[in-house]
Amino acid sequence: MPTDVINKPDELFEIFVNAQTFKTILHSFDDLCRVLRIDRKLIGYGKRSLYKILTSKLTSWKSKSLWAKIDKRGLQKEYENGYACADTKVCIVGAGPVGLRLAIECALLGARCVVVEKRDRFSRHNVLHLWPYVITDLKNLGAKVFYGKFATGQIEHISIRQLQCILLKIALLLGVEIYQNVTFIDTIEPTLTQPNWRAHFEPVSHPVVSTYDFNVLIGADGRRNSLHGFQHKEFRGKLAIGITCNYVNHHTREEQNFEEISGVAKIYNPQFFNELQQQTSIDLENIVYYKNETHYFVMTAKKQSLLDKGVILQDYPDAARLLARDNVKFSQLCNFACEAAQFATKSTSQFKFEFAENHYGTADVQMFDFTSLFHAVNASRIVERNGKQILMGLVGDSLLESFWPTGSGAGLGFFGLFDTAWAILKFAKHEHPLKVLVERESVYMLLSQSTPENTKNNYQLYSINPATRYQSLNSKMCTIEEIRHLYDSDSIPTIDMNNNHIISTKTNRTPVRRTQSFKQIPSTLPSNGNNTEKETLLVDWCEEIVDTYAIEIKKDSKAFQNSLAFCAIIHHYRPDLIDFKSLQPDRPISNFQILFDIMHDQLSLPIDRKLQNSLILSMKSSIEERIRQSSIVILQLLY
Ligand code: FAD
Repeated sequence: MPTDVINKPDELFEIFVNAQTFKTILHSFDDLCRVLRIDRKLIGYGKRSLYKILTSKLTSWKSKSLWAKIDKRGLQKEYENGYACADTKVCIVGAGPVGLRLAIECALLGARCVVVEKRDRFSRHNVLHLWPYVITDLKNLGAKVFYGKFATGQIEHISIRQLQCILLKIALLLGVEIYQNVTFIDTIEPTLTQPNWRAHFEPVSHPVVSTYDFNVLIGADGRRNSLHGFQHKEFRGKLAIGITCNYVNHHTREEQNFEEISGVAKIYNPQFFNELQQQTSIDLENIVYYKNETHYFVMTAKKQSLLDKGVILQDYPDAARLLARDNVKFSQLCNFACEAAQFATKSTSQFKFEFAENHYGTADVQMFDFTSLFHAVNASRIVERNGKQILMGLVGDSLLESFWPTGSGAGLGFFGLFDTAWAILKFAKHEHPLKVLVERESVYMLLSQSTPENTKNNYQLYSINPATRYQSLNSKMCTIEEIRHLYDSDSIPTIDMNNNHIISTKTNRTPVRRTQSFKQIPSTLPSNGNNTEKETLLVDWCEEIVDTYAIEIKKDSKAFQNSLAFCAIIHHYRPDLIDFKSLQPDRPISNFQILFDIMHDQLSLPIDRKLQNSLILSMKSSIEERIRQSSIVILQLLY
């Protein structure tokens, strides 16, 4: 075979590695797959099947060094060699840095993963500050193979555009399917004729996504989140007006001497800001300057200064009105930004800052209102319709908007996506939905407070398991009651004791296997009090259930007396029947009455006076006896 033909895949791989736009990356990857005669439909999706073929066919030193990195990451035990989520189908909305990085995790877990992106270009020159663990994470995935300059020396930042290019390439190699120019509109619930979760996209008749069935849907679509069912809360700080601008980097000698400013605030360096004000009448609270593909500046400007310099035309108390397009003089904004850049870089008067072009072909300078930052009230929900569950979640700016000048966007974004991947894993393992949600929401409570200083510092040990990253993790910080509304199900589950399955009483439902989620119920009842093995089994069973309600039955002798433990057990199986939070420990009789009513009215259980008496009487004996008696009664009822 002629040498040029043998070399072709490696040459195409080189073209793919060096591609610098969304379109050329996708095209060069398609070319590569075509030359390697890879048919996605034939090899299947998920289980890293595409990646395995690529690693066997591409053997240049560059590809091998990349495989070595990805293989190492892929060995983490959570992934189970790419089979942990082999039956899971994920749809991610948005190919921003966080959506793409999550797609990589889904592929490593072995899921089929489709990403839809409404844009057709990666055009954001703006620069992200990277926390040290993000740098380690990206290096471990082979970022330097694609971008040799990545994190050289003290440089801890990268343009959003470049980061998207790197992550897109890694995602494609791992088998993620990415579709540009596709906008997610809304979900489509399963029906009898179309029994899976799907979504409406634009264009409506897309050959792949319009018929894609999935069971995990993640909103990674930035601050204007489009997934329904998630509420957002506003954090209103004092008025903060951010300006970002990018100038062409001509790499001249003078530019090479510009010193980066990794973040300077007026309270820490008043001299810098006083001089700036004296020389230019510009009043800033902070400024960051990074030298990248462009000269990138982000600064927070004082309103009065913007009014004085004619950038803002009229003062209004409302921030949105103040920064409305018709109240901002764009040419003055450009002058303002250039003057600040000139001062910050100490450039000579001969040096002219030339604006880079933005997505719309105009000068890349923008003014943002940081007065209101939004965060989602919850990070996840599980919806069940016609027997099909879907896990929905938010990541990145959709989940938690950060104040860019502090540089926490990517740092928190990556933490949040790892936590989401962990929830996907638990969901794929058929953990009970309430358990998945309790853990996800408990971990989410830690996110906004996380900093490089208060999280674990052995970055090489970081995985999707939150315990490897958060220092003080309590994955049961939320109670079931607090998150119960996040599980939206139209089914009424019943317990199939023979197989320990939860099945629906509805017809036309696929049984959902949840053996991991429920403590197995002992198959036979203890016949007498001497059967210690069976009693231990019962006690264990009770303990494990009530533990998730922060009830300790051994120490808390009142837990059965006031019926809380009993209610917890019922609630564990049927959270829809009992408002557990409303129960009061000091009102045992009323609690018992609620319990008996539920058993009789809702569960149609044979709860006669004899049974009631034996239950209440058992509450007066020793703790062990109470547990034993109660367990027997519960088992009788559940059978
Ligand atoms: P994004 O990067 O916002 O990505 C979301 C993606 O979802 C976008 O590509 C969008 O086109 C796509 N999308 C949205 N809706 C849909 C839909 N319905 N269907 C399909 N696709 C959809 N951070 C900094 O640290 N410094 C900065 O200077 C800075 N400048 C920024 C400038 C702009 C204009 C924006 C939008 C963000 C900026 N950020 C900046 C924030 C930073 O980009 C994010 O924190 C970071 O990119 C992680 O965001 P993400 O992946 O969650 O979302």
